[in-house]
Amino acid sequence: MAQQDIEQLLGGRADELGVDVRRGVELTGFDADDGAVTVWTSGGAIRAGWLVGCDGGRSTVRKLAGFEFPGTDPEITCHQAVVEMTGAEDLKVGWTATDAGVYAHGPMPGRVVTVEFDGPSADRDAPVTTEDLQARLRRASGVDVTITGVRTATRFTDHARQVTEYRKGRVLLAGDAAHVHSAFGSQGLSLGIGDAMNLGWKLAAVIGGRAPEGLLDTYTSERHPVGAWVLDWTRSQVAAMRPDPQSRALREIVSDLAGTVVGTTYLTARLNGAGVRYDLPGEHPLTGRSAPDLELTDGGRLADHLHGGRALLLDLTDDPGLRALAAGYAGRVDTLTAGCPSRPELAAVLVRPDGFTAWAADAGARRRRRRPGWQRRWGVVRSAGGRGDAGLIRRSRWAGDVNCAPCPLCSWSSTMARARESGRRALWEPRRAAPARPPHRPWCECGPAPPATRPACGRTRGRRGGGRGRTHV
Ligand SMILES: Cc1cc2nc3c(=O)[nH]c(=O)nc-3n(C[C@H](O)[C@H](O)[C@H](O)COP(=O)(O)OP(=O)(O)OC[C@H]3O[C@@H](n4cnc5c(N)ncnc54)[C@H](O)[C@@H]3O)c2cc1C
Repeated sequence: MAQQDIEQLLGGRADELGVDVRRGVELTGFDADDGAVTVWTSGGAIRAGWLVGCDGGRSTVRKLAGFEFPGTDPEITCHQAVVEMTGAEDLKVGWTATDAGVYAHGPMPGRVVTVEFDGPSADRDAPVTTEDLQARLRRASGVDVTITGVRTATRFTDHARQVTEYRKGRVLLAGDAAHVHSAFGSQGLSLGIGDAMNLGWKLAAVIGGRAPEGLLDTYTSERHPVGAWVLDWTRSQVAAMRPDPQSRALREIVSDLAGTVVGTTYLTARLNGAGVRYDLPGEHPLTGRSAPDLELTDGGRLADHLHGGRALLLDLTDDPGLRALAAGYAGRVDTLTAGCPSRPELAAVLVRPDGFTAWAADAGARRRRRRPGWQRRWGVVRSAGGRGDAGLIRRSRWAGDVNCAPCPLCSWSSTMARARESGRRALWEPRRAAPARPPHRPWCECGPAPPATRPACGRTRGRRGGGRGRTHV
């Protein structure tokens, strides 16, 4: 699907939702303080609660806000064009490595790509000329083609950089503004849309007063690793394209591996996003992954029920207890009771608004009678709610204090925030025991408010260095 068509679809959806899109307006600066952001544009000043810079690889927002943007410098110049030419019959179709670099021809008529390891272009804003394109194609392919017309032409390099944090106070970045890399592997657009999906519902929850600002920090912790992998993926492709014997050998070995079932499965999962797994609490294989588009007995598919932009609790065993739990989240979590014959082992799935699985349980899962070992070891106690993993309180090993379990929808918790600040790793993941019920009353405030008589979340109540964890509800 062409990028222009995707942009048109998204623009149409924004119009449907009544979004005020001001085209042709340039951001020239902004002032951000603790309470709001004032954005200076060619169309006047705009006061807003938050600013999300989606302004591409040369992002003005990123530069003005002073985001760190480390990475690797370019070593190639790449041209992609659709041209009319003579002599093309001698060009091989597909990607071909030569002693001078790499070229590609097809799949559409006239489409050519050249890759030369000559460093970045001296003037990256200079237009691509027919003469330059022809000279590069001749050099890279060794074929004496003549370009007679150019329909489209783009130049890019393998600059690979990524911001270290996707948020600075009230300023956030998404898409190419947060990460740049070469176009090899066709990942940039999907990566940016993934950022937007991840950030959108979190920002909406914070603006709507349904979640604390700390939820926005999970935007970096979830999306930065995905972006870092894409950068490495594009770097590895450039490494395999170098015209030296070592790289050629590497290319052939990787190509052999990619032809195996395991290799193809790995690459497909990484490239289509199925391999992305966010670090959410719980051990079910679906947890943290993009929810599978299950075929349901109501005649639809899971994706059909996610258009509302809310979380969805899919009850696959007609369980009134489960629905009663979800009732506490009415307006934020939709509930759907249906069957799924193709996955009879599944009992329930809680899907976040971005389509990722927050929690899942298999049919027949039973709650343990005794607290499992990891709970006893780490001083985990039950909340007043007392349902499975619901409202579990954990005493982290490094701090000795008591904290609420991460929210199942957003994975935010006070300890996670502190661990990130201090650079230390909190011990989150239980080793065993998937809950038989979705987490109940998550204390990050995404869920229902805690009873007024109970102490607030995040206060240290345990003893350093041992002792039993204490109920914090
Ligand atoms: C040759 C090539 C081929 C590619 N092929 C693929 C592919 O097959 N698949 C894929 O997934 N990705 C592909 N990509 C990558 C993809 O195009 C980008 O990752 C994607 O366009 C990034 O979207 P974005 O919205 O973050 O940034 P952009 O598309 O760059 O959009 C940024 C927008 O912000 C506007 N803007 C900039 N500064 C300001 C300002 N100060 N004020 C107001 N507006 C501003 C710009 O005008 C622009 O409209 C390719 C890229 C290239 C170069």
